[in-house]
Amino acid sequence: MAGNSPCASCKLLRRRCSKDCIFAPFFPPHDPHKFALVHKVFGASNVSKMLQELPFHQRADAVSSLAYEANARMSDPVYGCVGAISYLQNQVSQLQVQLALAQAEILCIQMQQENTPLLDYQQMDTDGNSFPFNNSTVTQLMNIAPSTNNIAQEPFIRESIRI
Ligand SMILES: [Zn+2]
Repeated sequence: MAGNSPCASCKLLRRRCSKDCIFAPFFPPHDPHKFALVHKVFGASNVSKMLQELPFHQRADAVSSLAYEANARMSDPVYGCVGAISYLQNQVSQLQVQLALAQAEILCIQMQQENTPLLDYQQMDTDGNSFPFNNSTVTQLMNIAPSTNNIAQEPFIRESIRI
């Protein structure tokens, strides 16, 4: 594997790349930046230990994961990967609120078009806009959506709009 040119790890660590070098399959010489980052964040000997504890077929995934985490830690020294995860979770929450409000609007428009007896429930708000839900229904929706981190709960939100 090593051939004449040492792997990126051995090159950086200035050591001889042996035939059974644990880094060689995952840190090729043409991508020195990958190992440099992983080494800076985790340390070469820690990475070596982690890889030794894994069966060979899982090592490539582990190296990808370590490289991703090292990258995230470099660009966000405080939160690392967690920064990206919480940013995405916030986005999911905000989109769930928007979805719930859009579904409520759609239902409202459908009810107005169908001119069903449900119109009896319709009430005028203070601005004179007709809206079939009272403010507490909307408040409920706003409270439900941000706490759900799972899109699987979305049917529950839809059900509560129909009530
Ligand atoms: Zn090597």
